[in-house]
Amino acid sequence: MGVELNSGSSRKLYIRTFGCQMNEYDSLRVRRLLAARGYVVVDDIGRADVVFLNTCSVRGKAEQKVYSFLGSLRRFKESKPNLKIITGGCVAQQLGEKLLDRFDHLDMVIGTRAVNSVGQLLQQALESGGRLACLPEEEKPDSQSGGPGEAEINQSPGAVTAPVTIMQGCDNYCSYCIVPYVRGPERSRPAAQILEEVRALEACGVSEVLLLGQNVNSYGKGLEQSITFDELLKRIEAQTGIARIRFTTSHPRDLTDELMLCFARMDSLCKHLHLPVQAGSDRVLARMNRGYTVAGYVEKIRRLRTICPEIGLSSDVIVGFPGETVEDFKKTMELLDEVRFDNLFSFCYSDRPNTRAAAFADKVEKGEAARRLLELQALQADISAGKNLAEVGSIREVLVEGPSRASNGQMTGRTTHNRIVNFQAPLSSKGQIVGVKIACAYSHSLKGDIVAK
Ligand code: SAM
Ligand code: SF4
Repeated sequence: MGVELNSGSSRKLYIRTFGCQMNEYDSLRVRRLLAARGYVVVDDIGRADVVFLNTCSVRGKAEQKVYSFLGSLRRFKESKPNLKIITGGCVAQQLGEKLLDRFDHLDMVIGTRAVNSVGQLLQQALESGGRLACLPEEEKPDSQSGGPGEAEINQSPGAVTAPVTIMQGCDNYCSYCIVPYVRGPERSRPAAQILEEVRALEACGVSEVLLLGQNVNSYGKGLEQSITFDELLKRIEAQTGIARIRFTTSHPRDLTDELMLCFARMDSLCKHLHLPVQAGSDRVLARMNRGYTVAGYVEKIRRLRTICPEIGLSSDVIVGFPGETVEDFKKTMELLDEVRFDNLFSFCYSDRPNTRAAAFADKVEKGEAARRLLELQALQADISAGKNLAEVGSIREVLVEGPSRASNGQMTGRTTHNRIVNFQAPLSSKGQIVGVKIACAYSHSLKGDIVAK
């Protein structure tokens, strides 16, 4: 959440974002589009005239969180009848009008391709006093950006790093995943638009951009002017002055040698790759429809580490996928031991509506899946701790993002390898890249001392 831009009679907007970085980006878009209509963002929901919930339904747990938050708003709406409650994001797209039926205090449901219309739709609801659901097949162009010299700037005020969506949707249809159903087919944004946005962010003081897409490696498909993802990266480096570029997420099947070489050749590209493997068993990967084998994945990691030995690696794993045997799970554990990721995001499988895996009969019992998850997370905790410990004594370049969350007077930032580092430094160092000598390692972060350049 951001700060209040001004006070007084302007209408107050409270935004709550559930789920992933793509949703964070959409929330920034909503914030910008409604700011143009005079709304200011508040951190205190009690002061809001409009509540916008940007929802996620990638996993069952995320969806349940949305329902319980929506339910908790009933009383609030009773005490403030003029309050408008809007639900956007994947749950909105998935359920549409059914969400209005289920929560009679909800005013608007906005599909994933209606974000650009949020201002007009809110105006319509305010004027009519009615409730509405808008789920278009295609997104209308954004009326507040794309004009000559007017780039979209979706950024939290004063942020050092900013997300930039380079593509929407996904065509991969992994058998467990709801994304293609709620985000639609893959669409890439033209390179010129992306470059314009990066330059605009740079002009606002942003030092690092995070390029977002469900499968950035296949960026460029279907664009009039053909371009690949590695070419886009090179253009951003050549045609903007942005200090650092990151991206997520990459699909292992589409990771090319050209992209791997960028890690060695491009100064501004951060040396970190998030490459979700999902499982360590070929049988499970095939049923997931991932389009690669364990050996193929490991070979790509080997090549990448040959090209860029210091690359930081993270991944996603699902445990308890339908039909996953103890043997399959053992193979996932062996894969973690072999690859030794720096960081891992791991989840218990959950059924998602319409997906093929939801119809698979051989479900793993929930308690057993939870047990496997704990075992896997314990192994990864050891690996991550060992990797962090190996950093002690090294000097790393850190982009200072701002005061650390612990608010103990320390600043926080990230190394090029995506490791979080906390250190004592003045507030004025925000936005700078400083040298930090690593003194201590913790499970998820490092601590160090600034060194003179
Ligand atoms: N596009 C990315 C990819 O291909 O890996 C990530 C998409 S998804 C938003 C993020 C992660 O959620 C996935 O990598 C997967 O590990 C997890 N996930 C997706 N569907 C899931 C499900 N039904 N149950 C459990 N985890 C799931
Ligand atoms: Fe979902 Fe697979 Fe697309 Fe990732 S690549 S968003 S996991 S369908």
